[in-house]
Amino acid sequence: MTCSEFLAELGDLLDDRVATSLRSDLEMHLKGCEHCVITLNTTRKTIEIYRRHEIYELPEGLRERLHAAILAKCKKGCE
Ligand SMILES: [Zn+2]
Repeated sequence: MTCSEFLAELGDLLDDRVATSLRSDLEMHLKGCEHCVITLNTTRKTIEIYRRHEIYELPEGLRERLHAAILAKCKKGCE
């Protein structure tokens, strides 16, 4: 699994909507990729803040911005 593939499933992972087989692939990617761990934790915190303020819609483009940021960090050896 690449970082792009991981990020494509990130929203579903946080919502607990991924199939068991996919979940183990995602967890395997996390074991080898600290950038995606950081992105996962950051996104989770962001969502918690929004829920606490009873704002349920994530800001427009949040996922795209995270995606761009992580790909910039993962230029080498992160697949
Ligand atoms: Zn990754």
